Parts: sequence; structure tokens; C-alpha cells
Amino acid sequence: MNVPKIDIGLLIGEAIEAGSEQAEKILNPRNGDLILEVAEASTEQVDRAVAAARKAFEGWSRTTPAERSAALHRIADRIEAEASGFAALESLNCGKPINAALNDEIPAIVDCYRFFAGAVRNQHGAIAGEYMEGMTSMIRRDAVGVVASIAPWNYPLMMMAWKLAPAIGGGNTVVFKPSEQTPLTALKMVRIFAEELPVGVVNILPGRGETVGNYLINHPGVDMISLTGDVATGKKMLDAASKSVKRTHLELGGKAPVVVFDDADIGQVVEGLRAFGYYNAGQDCTAACRIYASKKIYDKLVADLTSAVADIPLGLDDDTLNEIGPLISLRQRDRVASFVERAREVNHIEITTGGMTMGDSGFYYRPTIVAGAQQTDEIVRREVFGPVVSITPFSDVEQAVSWANDSDYGLASSIWTRDVGRAMATASRLRYGCTWVNTHFMLVNEMPHGGIKQSGYGKDMSGYALEDYTFVRHVMISHA
Ligand code: NAD
Repeated sequence: MNVPKIDIGLLIGEAIEAGSEQAEKILNPRNGDLILEVAEASTEQVDRAVAAARKAFEGWSRTTPAERSAALHRIADRIEAEASGFAALESLNCGKPINAALNDEIPAIVDCYRFFAGAVRNQHGAIAGEYMEGMTSMIRRDAVGVVASIAPWNYPLMMMAWKLAPAIGGGNTVVFKPSEQTPLTALKMVRIFAEELPVGVVNILPGRGETVGNYLINHPGVDMISLTGDVATGKKMLDAASKSVKRTHLELGGKAPVVVFDDADIGQVVEGLRAFGYYNAGQDCTAACRIYASKKIYDKLVADLTSAVADIPLGLDDDTLNEIGPLISLRQRDRVASFVERAREVNHIEITTGGMTMGDSGFYYRPTIVAGAQQTDEIVRREVFGPVVSITPFSDVEQAVSWANDSDYGLASSIWTRDVGRAMATASRLRYGCTWVNTHFMLVNEMPHGGIKQSGYGKDMSGYALEDYTFVRHVMISHA
């Protein structure tokens, strides 16, 4: 793998400097080796970053949409020009197959900045008019202020794009904290933001959640907290926000139900679930991980999916052949393994493939199917965030819909059937931010991504994200 020089400087205003606190070990998930250490930011550095963002807000929030659009286009162009370097770094830090990083993620990231470059120039709203005699009312959408933006480790550069493009496009300034496990691509972005944006519009501080993150979200100079992460972390954001009534934008976990009716094209289902249940080693909040299959096709689906999943290539020396990588850390692998071990002890459950770690080094876990799972089982209810998919047979549509909706999460779902009426009727009853029909996992920058219930609220991608990062104002002008 051709990995270029690794940048480890933080961005605070115009300064690119080293973190002055504890060093965090960044490990290669393929073999557990140390890549390098990144020192986290101190509270003094957080203070300076927030101050720089506050100062920059005055000017940036008054730029025209065209100016912000041009900046977003320049950022997109720079990432595209360095696509192979970004992909190599993401692949190194996360263990992602290079083809997934380079051919799936980087184009979607570049497109995200370009989408918001267009969207910010094309916002719509209510009509100005005389709603009271002698007075003209109009609606404005203005930037919220300084956003504390906190990202997870599963798609580091993409989550950064989802969070920063609408935030800065909307005229906000940002202090961004990548996951302590995956800061490398965010730190590579430091130079690009420093060169393409006015001073202080984006500040980047690596560090742990309980130190840098916690100090940042409680900072009085922050107006909005945006998190993509775990439900428990989201609740901490709400606690912090309540002290000074900060706006929050929370994209939390998921446990996507997949309803497979008896008239579905089983070949298509198997191909889809092999891809969308295990992509990114299942470390995806929309992963197709909770399958409900009609009793009529249940046995065939279990058999066919088991052989398809057993063939997923991973851990090969030639990375271009790998479809998935390892898990992000030993801790995450052990967590996934412990879910499967507990499931294995349940009498009605059968692990039809996988169910074990792989290799002597690195954090690999074999793609796993947990068949015969029941609605009350832990494996059906809790987010595993690994390459583990459960299958549960259902009798009729009422049972399938009620089980699919019986979850703390509400992010993504899918329905597989050849009957369009059945698909529409079922989709209308699912309580999820997204429902796919005869596919799963597909996201486009024009359409919103976000959940309900404990999956959080607020939308990433699409014009709805721009709405979340701006607020509606009424201006009334007297004619007198
Ligand atoms: P996490 O919640 O542990 O960490 C996310 C970020 O929050 C990290 O940067 C972390 O340092 C920070 N953090 C942790 N504690 C904090 C605190 N007290 N104060 C401030 N910041 C703190 O999540 P993770 O393990 O990195 O990511 C996996 C989770 O993210 C999964 O639950 C997954 O479903 C979720 N996720 C959701 C979406 C979505 O769009 N809904 C997308 C990707 C990941």
C-alpha cells in the first residue's frame, strides 16, 4: 500500500501545531501494529479553537452563498486530486479494503462537498408578504454559530464530509473532533482547510471523548453540538446541551430490519444481504443485520445466504481481493465475539457460518449468520456493529411489521418483494428514517439520512441537513 507522509498537526485558527496532551496510539487493525501516536488537544487548545471559530463566525456567516459554494468546490477538488492518498490513509487506519475506500467512499465524499456547494445556493422557503396590513414579513435562514462536531470511527472522512459540508455551507464555523481511533484523514484535511477557508472557519482537534470531546461539548462558546456516534454518547450530548440550551444534531446507532416476503427474488436477496449486511465488516449503522424471512422461504434463504457469506473474501494478502476488512479494534472484535458466544448458548439458535475470530494478528472476525433467532433474543435487539446477521422466520405481514418496528432504533430498514403494492403498504408502516425496497444501504447526497427513536434526530445529506445547520428567522418591516 502506498501511504504518503502522515500529517499529525491540529488546526487551531491559522496555526497548525502539535497536540499538547496525552498521546493516543493509532493501530493498524489488520495486524495490531502501531502506526504512530497522535497527541490529543489540551483544554487550552480547545479554548483557542472555540475562540478562533467564534471570531471567524462574524465574517463567514456574512459571506454570500456563492462564496461558500466556491470554497466547498475547492475542498472537493482537493480531495479528489489526492484521492489515492486519502484512500490509502483511510485503509491503513481503519483496515478497509483499498478498493472500498478508493472507489466507494472517496467519490461519495467528494460528491457530498459538491452537493452542498450547489444546495447552499438553492434554498427555498415561505413566501414574503403582507400577513398583517402595513407590514411585510419575510423569512430568513441564518447560521446557528459555532458547531462542536464529533465523529465516529467507521467512516472517518465521510462522516467529516457529512458534518462539515452542510455546517460550513450554511455559514457556521466548526470545531471538529475525529474519533481518537481514526484521526488520520481528518488531520490530512488540516492543510486543505487551512488553505481553502478563511482562518478559523474549521478547526480540527483530535482527542478522546471523555477529555477533548467532553470539554468541547460543555464549552460556553459552542452554540450547537453535532454527533455521529453511540446512543450512550448521544445522551451525554443532551446533558451537556441542556446546561446552556445548545442545539443538537444526533445520528446514533441502528439495528436495521430486513423484511423478506415469500415472493422475493431469493437470488437478489442473497446477493444484496451478502453485500449490505457485511460491508465495512458490518460497522455501519444501516447494516442489513436483522432479517425477518417469511416461513415459506426461510430454509432456502438460510441455506443460500450461508454459502454466499462463507465465501466473502477477507484477510487476503492481496488487498484488492478483499471485500471486507477487520474490525476497528481488539475491543470491538471482542465485543462482537461476545455477542455471538451468548447467542450460541441459546438453544433455538444455530450459527450457520462464521462465529469465530480469524488469524493470529489483527482484529478480524469471520462473517457470521445467526439463524433461528427470536424477537426477544439479545442478538435481535442490540446493535452488534460487526459482521453478524440474524435471521428470524415470520408467519404473516402483521408479525413482520410489528417485529420490525419493535426496536429502540429507527434508522434504516428494507423490504424485499416483487409485489409493489405490498412494498408500498409495508413501507408506509415502518417507523424508520429510511426504507429501501429490493435493495438496502444505498445513499445519495440528494436524499436525507437520519433516524427516529434512539437512532437520534437531525438529517445528514440533502437540503434537510442545511436546514438543521441553519435556523429560521422572521423579519417584519413596517410600511409606515
Ligand atoms: P462513540 O459514541 O463511542 O464515539 C463517537 C465520538 O464521540 C468519538 O469521537 C468519541 O471520542 C466521542 N465521544 C465519546 N464520548 C464522548 C463524550 N463524553 N463527550 C464528547 N464526545 C465523546 O461511537 P463510535 O464507537 O466511535 O461509533 C460507533 C457508533 O456510531 C455506533 O453506535 C454507530 O451506530 C454510530 N453511528 C451512527 C451513524 C448514523 O448515521 N446514525 C453513522 C455512523 C456511526
